[in-house]
Amino acid sequence: MKPNIVIVDGHNNRYVDQKLSLERSILQDEATLSLIQTSGFEPLLDDKKVTKADILIWWYSVPLPTSMIERLKNCRAIIRPAVGFDNIDIEAARKKNIPVITIPDYGTEEVADHTLALILANNRRLFNTNRAAGDGIWNWKTIGMDTRRLRGLKAGIIGLGRIGKAVALRLKAFGICVWFYDPYEKSGLHKSLGIQESPDLETLLKQSDILTFHVPLNSETKYLLNSTNCHLIKEDALIINTCRGEVIEEAALTKLLQHPLIHLGLDVLEKEPHIPISLQNNHRVLLTGHSAFYSAASLHELKSRAILTALQVLHQKKIKNIVN
Ligand code: NAD
Repeated sequence: MKPNIVIVDGHNNRYVDQKLSLERSILQDEATLSLIQTSGFEPLLDDKKVTKADILIWWYSVPLPTSMIERLKNCRAIIRPAVGFDNIDIEAARKKNIPVITIPDYGTEEVADHTLALILANNRRLFNTNRAAGDGIWNWKTIGMDTRRLRGLKAGIIGLGRIGKAVALRLKAFGICVWFYDPYEKSGLHKSLGIQESPDLETLLKQSDILTFHVPLNSETKYLLNSTNCHLIKEDALIINTCRGEVIEEAALTKLLQHPLIHLGLDVLEKEPHIPISLQNNHRVLLTGHSAFYSAASLHELKSRAILTALQVLHQKKIKNIVN
C-alpha cells in the first residue's frame, strides 16, 4: 500500500491551493496525498486520515498539541513548512519518536526586506503623506516635522539569526549604526558583519532609535519586551516586530504609544487577528497582517520543499532541520 501524506491547513488563512497541483506534480505516484482544511485541531482528534497518516505536513494556522500528537499511530514525520514551530508541541512529538522538520530558510530575504519596508515607511511617514496627498494636500510638511535622517541612527537587532543578519546587512547600507543582542550567537560575529554587540538586552533597549525583533517564540522569549522593561526604550523610538506577536506584551505596546513620538511597525500580534484598540486606526502604527514571509517565490519554495522533504523521509534519506 502507498504511504499517506496528509496536509493540514487552516480554513481561512489558507496557504495551500486546494487542487494541490504543485504538490502532486512533485510527488508523482509515490504516495497518496490529501488535504484537510480545518478551523482547529479538535475536529481531527478522531479523524482516521490524520491519526493514521504516515507523514503530516502541518501549516501555521492550526495548533498541534500533545492531545493530537498522542493519537497519531503511524506518523514517521511532522513537516512544519516554516521557520517558527511554536504551534507544535515538539516535546510530545519527541516522546513518540516523531521528528518535527522545519523549512527554515525559504523566506529569510522576504522577512528582512519587509522589516526594512516597515522601517522606511515609518521613518518617511508614508501613511501621513499618502493620506494627505490622496486628499489633495500637496505639502511636504505633511511628512511631519519630527522626521529624522536615518544615517547615524542606532538600530538594535534582537536575535541575530538568519533574518537578523539579513536585516543587519540592509540597515548598514542606509548608514545606520547596527547593534545586536543574542546570547546564543558565536563570539566574533560583530567583526565579520561590521556591527556592534550589546552586552545585554537592557542596554540595547536604552540606546536604540530603532528596535527590531527576530527571535523564535519560546518560554524564554515570550514577553521579552514587556510592561516592566518597556520604560527603558527611548521616547521617540521605532519598534518593529516581524517575528512573533507574543515576543512583545500587548500592554507594553499600549504603554509605549502614550509617548507621542513612538512609532510601531508590526507584522505580528499577540492574538492574531485580534487588534487591540490602542493599535487601531493609529497613524503611528503600521500593521501588515503576518505577510512578511510572502512572495510568490517564497511560498512556491516553501510548498515544494515540504513535499521534497516528505519524499526524503519516505526514501529514508538524511534529514536536515529536525527541531526535536
Ligand atoms: P533563527 O533561528 O535563524 O534566528 C533566531 C535567533 O534568535 C538565533 O540567533 C537565536 O540565537 C536568537 N535568540 C534565541 N533566543 C534569544 C533571546 N532570548 N534573546 C536574543 N536572541 C535570541 O531564525 P530566523 O530564520 O532568523 O527567524 C526568526 C523568527 O522569525 C522565526 O522564529 C519566526 O518565528 C519568525 N518569522 C516570521 C515570519 C513572518 O512572516 N512574519 C516569517 C519567517 C519567520
